[in-house]
Amino acid sequence: MSGSRPHWWPAYIGLGSNLADPVAQIDSAFIAIGNLPDTQLVLRSPLYKSSPIGPQDQPDYINAAATVLTQLSPIKLLGKLQAIEKSQGRTRGADRWGARTLDLDLLAFGAQVIESSELTVPHPRIGERNFVLLPLNDIAPDLQIPGGLSVARMAAEASLNEPNIVRLDP
Ligand code: ATP
Ligand code: MG
Ligand code: MG
Repeated sequence: MSGSRPHWWPAYIGLGSNLADPVAQIDSAFIAIGNLPDTQLVLRSPLYKSSPIGPQDQPDYINAAATVLTQLSPIKLLGKLQAIEKSQGRTRGADRWGARTLDLDLLAFGAQVIESSELTVPHPRIGERNFVLLPLNDIAPDLQIPGGLSVARMAAEASLNEPNIVRLDP
């Protein structure tokens, strides 16, 4: 079939929050992602609770992952995710990896490899983060991270990593 209609791309989003009722923040973010234009929320992972990376004097995180199908471009999707972060009170302070109400990272976008000043896809720190890989493994174990292994293989190795993490949902 030909035509000008944009392709539906699978994209994978990592969610994290450790301020202002993190479970509610993640629930709200899933709803907001589901309401994005030209985008369908396909799967949401169970919730995980993890200890922080970076500054240690901050609360534990709630983490999750989402699969969407989208007709948006990667940069447009990133802009929409940043707008959701902002609408849920995200501020960016001087502290790298400091506490936040909501972090929405674009983990992968189809098999695309993008390296621009605003967007790097696949997200470059997926492989070292069990709080990304474990929820992602629940919804996309066979996803191949370009230049890497399958999510399932990476998750098996990451489960040995810090930070401590526990799945909250069954
Ligand atoms: P990390 O990227 O290590 O998880 P972070 O999520 O705390 O850190 P942010 O403050 O949320 O970092 O984002 C900093 C910048 O990262 C954003 O301005 C955005 O342009 C850029 N960025 C690059 N690639 C991505 C991506 N794949 N997903 C989200 N943001 C990205
Ligand atoms: Mg992040
Ligand atoms: Mg981020």
